[in-house]
Formats: sequence, structure tokens, C-alpha cells
Amino acid sequence: MQDRLMPDAADVSPPISRDIWELKYRLKDAGGAPVDSSLDDTFWRVARAAAAVEKGGKRGREQWAKRFHDGMADLGFLPAGRILAGAGTGRAVTLFNCFVLGKIEDDLSAIFDGVKDAALTMQQGGGIGHDFSTLRPKGAPVASIGADASGPVSFMEVWDAMCRTIMSAGARRGAMMATLHCDHPDIEAFIGAKADPAKLRNFNLSVLVTDAFLEAVRGDRAWDLKFGGKVYRTLPARALWERIMRATYDFAEPGVVFIDRVNARNNLNYCEEIHATNPCGEQPLPPFGACLLGSINLARLIEKPFTGDAHLDVGKLAERVKVAVRFLDNVIDVSNYPLPAQREEAFAKRRIGLGVTGLADALIFCGVRYGTDEAAKLAGTWMAAIQNAAYAASSELAEEKGAFPLFDAERFLASPNVALLDKEVRAAIRRHGIRNGCLTSIAPTGTISLLAGNVSSGVEPVFDYRYSRRLLSRDGSAREETVEDYAHAAFRRQFGPTAALPDAFVRAADLTPAEHLAMQAALQPWVDSAISKTINCPEDISFEDFKDIYLEAHARGLKGCTTYRPNPVTGAVLQSAPAA
Ligand code: ADP
Repeated sequence: MQDRLMPDAADVSPPISRDIWELKYRLKDAGGAPVDSSLDDTFWRVARAAAAVEKGGKRGREQWAKRFHDGMADLGFLPAGRILAGAGTGRAVTLFNCFVLGKIEDDLSAIFDGVKDAALTMQQGGGIGHDFSTLRPKGAPVASIGADASGPVSFMEVWDAMCRTIMSAGARRGAMMATLHCDHPDIEAFIGAKADPAKLRNFNLSVLVTDAFLEAVRGDRAWDLKFGGKVYRTLPARALWERIMRATYDFAEPGVVFIDRVNARNNLNYCEEIHATNPCGEQPLPPFGACLLGSINLARLIEKPFTGDAHLDVGKLAERVKVAVRFLDNVIDVSNYPLPAQREEAFAKRRIGLGVTGLADALIFCGVRYGTDEAAKLAGTWMAAIQNAAYAASSELAEEKGAFPLFDAERFLASPNVALLDKEVRAAIRRHGIRNGCLTSIAPTGTISLLAGNVSSGVEPVFDYRYSRRLLSRDGSAREETVEDYAHAAFRRQFGPTAALPDAFVRAADLTPAEHLAMQAALQPWVDSAISKTINCPEDISFEDFKDIYLEAHARGLKGCTTYRPNPVTGAVLQSAPAA
């Protein structure tokens, strides 16, 4: 076992990095003996696995393996956790984080086929999303047995129990998303389903909010709840909206997905329709859709941090993005798929989700305070650079390896995300096509950001400069570990323990909901899929102000909104630690 966990990054190897590597990513044999000798060795295993599909014989593959390895070695590109844990291990696990399962047909046998699909997907480590809107409402007749249906929420409990059972064996908790359409007759039961702290703990819930519903809310009109062409009940749209908002205010569930916008802005809307997202919301996916995630660690790409000349190295960024896109595209070919339908879907569209992590730390390094106009603008520029570089790289790949099978130049180029790209990038796509149907997405990066020395995760602000985290071991036991924010640790190393923190240092709880929202809104135009982001709200925010966040999120072009207000049902998720 190496003492130096990260030869290239010895300055950022706090205990948490080592623990995460040891616990989550280090390959061990069946008897528990280590196979990977160091984190670097882990990166080589993963790099070689991804390079296995490259042409050019052994030499060609080794050259690509080296480029993939080098992209990861300084923690500048971080493949998602599933890839680090599973690639090159020979195990029957999928390398995809995110799945949405197929349409659930409204009959008992098909419902339990759906449970089976979900179980098989989860067994391999995927987080899953499901739309339950296709199930008939509670009390609707089931003619064949002369009884009444029990409704989608009761079937969700079957999935919940299944998830609990499948996941009880490992160090991860299960993660599932359930969506329900805002006109489903059981929508109110769905909205209230998690008020009971014992219920549906393996699910996140999201209401699929349509434009028609929001118009009815704005116009204070009546809203029909219907199923199979029959109107079950009519209620004021505003009453339903209030109910969603009240539940979210009281116990942080459900979230909302602006589903019409999701579909309207989807690059692939000419060949698919989306009704659900993965568990953390960054990936709206069609039935049997899956997405591979990876993140560019912005905190690692800042030159001259804490000086007046601090800046993101744009050249390095483009190079990193290029390697990351090729890497993720290869992983589509080498991954295992729990279900044949998932493989077919992935191969037809070659969806990847490249995102960022360490955004807040990168801003701190540049002396820019998260949440300000300057920060929103700068973050938008960075994301625009990533978006353009990713599409350029994928178009180059298409020239070399072929476009994704369902590529249709006219319709693809007409989609809103693609319309925003630089002219040269669009021209390249017109000429060569594109390898990947959707390219960018911003994940929570909950675990890999810890591996990278606790950079601020995804696009979230720094939670706190020091806080304690609960680490789950493989045997299911938990322990607390204190972690320090990456930029904070760097500042302390450079300027000493007593130097006053510059203004750019700001924590999640110091920000207003509007500042949180402004950051998410600045990035969304440059992200194909969606963004996993929680708008933190103070406990004493008024209900009226709280409601406005959601309408503002819609007005600002977001695809969904998730807030968190401390509440008795969920409690606090992370605990600040006393400053050292
Ligand atoms: P990581 O840091 O391990 O790469 P993220 O925190 O970025 O993962 O999560 C990315 C996605 O992975 C989530 O949106 C979700 O779909 C899936 N996921 C997260 N946690 C779990 C879990 N405990 N079980 C299954 N899937 C998960």
C-alpha cells in the first residue's frame, strides 16, 4: 500500500480522498485483498478499460490509455463513481450512473416486470428513475377481477421495498426518482407521500409540471385531473400549486420538473419523449435511457489562484474536454447493460453527460464571490467554453468513428442547445455529424468531489469551510469524518491559519435563494440536460417568498427546481464542524 496516495497531487490528499478511494474505488479481489496499488493504479485500470475499443493495435490503445490516464491523474477530469469503481474489473456491473426505466404498462404482470427491470438495474449499481403516470388512479375499476386499483403511490411502495432489499448488501444507499404528471388523479397523494418520515425513503419525488398547468395557475383557472380520457376531478390550479409548494416547504418534497421545456429543449426530441429523470434530476431521460457522467474539475484548471491574474486556463480546458468526451464515448462500448433495451437505447444515441465540479472553489481562486453578477457571468463563460469544446470534440469523433445512428443533421442543428453553439462548431457538425446525441449535464458529484480533495461539488457553493460527513462502510457501519473545503485548505496553506478570508469566500447558507438561482440560470443555456442543484433556503423564509423561487426558476429558463429548507422531517443533511 502506497503512502503517497496521489503522486501528482500530494498537496491535496487529505484523509477523505484516501478513505473514499479505499472505500469506493480501489479494486479488491473476492477475498478483500487490494488489487489496485495506488489511486494512480486505479486511473490506469480505468484508462486501459476505456482505451480497449481504440484501433491501432496494442500500441494505439496504450497511447490512448496514457492520454486518458493523464486527463485523470491530476484530478482535472473525474469520471463518475460507477466508472472508477467498475471499469476494467471484469465484474458484471454497469458503468452508467443514471437510468430511466421503460413505460410501466397498466396491468399487474407488466408492473411486476417493471419491478424486475428496476431490480436488475439497481443490482448493477445504477440509480433509476420511473414515471408512474401510466398507472390508473386509486379506486379506478380493475374489470378483470371486479376490484378497485390501489394507485401509483401504493405501487411505489413495492419499488421502495425492492430497493431497500437490493441495496442492503452494499455501502451505497439506493437512489430512485418517481415522477407523476400534474394532471394525474392521484397527484395529491403523490405530493403528500413523503410527509411520513418512514415512507418511500429510497425515492425522490418530482411532479411533471406542464406549461398548460402553469398557465392555469397564472390565470387562476380550473384544472382537470384525468386518466385515460376520463376527468376524475376538477380543482383550482392554484390550489394544486399551493399544495406542491406547501409540501416542498414543509418537508423538501416533491421537486418539480418543467417537463414541456425539457422536451422542447432536448436535442433528441425528434426521436424520443421524456417523462422522467434520474434520481438527482440532472438527467431527464427517455424510457430505457441511460447516461454516463463525468466532470471537469474547474478548481484544478485555475492558474495563479488568489492573485489579481487568476484565470481559467482555457486551452487546458478544451484539451481536457476533448479527452473526456472520447473517454466517455468509449465507455458506452465497454460498459455492461442490465437490460438489452438499455444497450440498444445507449448505442442508438450515445448520450454522455459531461459536467463540472469545483465551480465554487474555482470562483474563490479567481477572487469572485459566488452568487454575484460577475460570478454568474464568469461561470456562464466557462460552461459555454465547455459546451463548445464538447460538441467540437464529438464532431471530430464522428468524422473518425461515425455519427450516432439516429443523427439527423437538419433536426439536430435546429434544436435550441445546438443553435447557441459557435458558428465553426455548427459547421463542423453539419459536415461530419456528431458522435453523441446529448453531451453535457451537471451531476451532484457527491462522492468524486471528495476524492478530489473535497472540491465544492458540482455547481454548488461551498457548503462550509469545515464540516463533518458520514461515511458508510461496506459492512454498513457509518462513521463521521471532518472535511475541509479545497479552496479554504489551499488558502490556509498559502497565507497561514489566521489570515482573514477574502470576500470571495462565501458559504451556501450565506447566499440568498435568488443568488443560488442566478448561478443555475447562468449555466443552464450551456447544458444539454439539466443541472443537479439545491436552492438552500433559510428556515425562516416566508411561504410567499419560497413560492416565488419556483416561478422565478421557470421564468429564468430552468428545467426544474429543487429547494431545501431545514425541516423536522428530513433534518439537516450535513453538519458544520467547529472551525479548527
Ligand atoms: P458520483 O460522485 O459517485 O460520481 P453523483 O453524486 O454525481 O455520483 O451522482 C450522479 C448520479 O448517480 C445521480 O444523479 C444518480 O442518478 C446516481 N446515484 C447517486 N447516488 C446513488 C446511489 N446511492 N445509488 C444509485 N445511484 C446513485
